[in-house]
Amino acid sequence: MPGYELFGAQERKEVNDVLETGILMRYGFDGMRNGVWKAKELEKELCSAFGVAHAQLLSSGTAALTTAMVALGIGAGDEVIMPSFTFVASFEAVLSVGAIPVLVDIDDTLTLDPRAVEAAITPRTKAVMPVHMCGSMAQLDELMAICKAHKLLLLEDACQAIGATYNGRSLGTIGDAGTFSLDFVKIITCGEGGAVLTNNEETYRKCDQYTDHGHDHMGKDRGADLHPYIGYNFRISELHAAVGLAQVRRLQEFLTLQKRNHSIIADVLSGVEGLTFRRIPDPAGDAGSFLSFFLPTEEMARAAVAAFAAEGVGGNFYWYDNNWHYIRKWQHLQNGSWMNRLYDEQKKQVLHYSNQAFAISDAIMSRCISSSISLLWDESQARARAVKMADILTRVIAENTVTA
Ligand SMILES: *Cc1c(COP(=O)(O)O)cnc(C)c1O
Repeated sequence: MPGYELFGAQERKEVNDVLETGILMRYGFDGMRNGVWKAKELEKELCSAFGVAHAQLLSSGTAALTTAMVALGIGAGDEVIMPSFTFVASFEAVLSVGAIPVLVDIDDTLTLDPRAVEAAITPRTKAVMPVHMCGSMAQLDELMAICKAHKLLLLEDACQAIGATYNGRSLGTIGDAGTFSLDFVKIITCGEGGAVLTNNEETYRKCDQYTDHGHDHMGKDRGADLHPYIGYNFRISELHAAVGLAQVRRLQEFLTLQKRNHSIIADVLSGVEGLTFRRIPDPAGDAGSFLSFFLPTEEMARAAVAAFAAEGVGGNFYWYDNNWHYIRKWQHLQNGSWMNRLYDEQKKQVLHYSNQAFAISDAIMSRCISSSISLLWDESQARARAVKMADILTRVIAENTVTA
């Protein structure tokens, strides 16, 4: 799955370029930096690699989501529809701009069920935020049609899906804006970092300003910049950008390995009777960072997770019990444990949505295992792992099937 597995000479070279000049900041110091502008270079590279007009780097994927929402004009009292299965960062980002997260059920794509989205629309809905979990995509045609019909913004959380595509277009470049995370465990990494992608010039300009205290970056002297809006500091450093630059140039190499190992495992597991797989709206566009599959029952899924662990098959995620990715275990949210006081209406709505039952999502997530795909396996290692997994799954399904 992650780019950190192949950290090497290219990454060291790019970081060294920055260390040679000692200019660790992305802005200014023109005379001292010897023409080294890693953040700027990485933004250009993101545009060409993913076919998008603008890219803004930031300090994290969470900051990217927050900034994208700000730039799109999402704020106090606005409702943002998002899936019950996500990473907690997507939820945090909605709260951070004063908006209200509205969680809805997923389907067997492991992200937004378009019917659930439609049912959740109110006069206050401002945006739909699909989260392209585990390297694969939401049903974007359906979601785009809903957004168009109801005049809603589409913000793609593509933090886990760098390099995945939908009908030939890169995830994160299809909606009004999209975000990548470049944190340490993502498909490519900066150490810590993120990006907002957009084809809209004004949205981009606002992101550029918001991430640097509102500086308009129009003049030669940063100190004399004007500040059309209030901003924050979500800047990335040159050291982080340097790592990302090396990694994005290796993305195709990573994806080739990842997809090869993914298809070896998928081929073998497809022979296991009773096992079904996550529905992928555009299979050719799957980044292959995980293989997600469903056991017939929750009991079998739990037994399989236990057997994988007992028999040394690592990297299998049972999100249903995970307290970062699935609403069911977000106890801090359900208890209303926030540090800064929310305004009353936001608090009321958040608690309401957090305590809602998600029976449809539960029925899917309780049977789901996502198996992460390593870049380090050669073909025979991938095959050996696949055979071991298939044996365990076959046994678990047989042992838990009551024969009449
Ligand atoms: C990782 C991740 C984020 C947040 O990214 P950070 O860079 O860790 O802040 C947001 N959404 C999803 C789906 C993620 O997986």
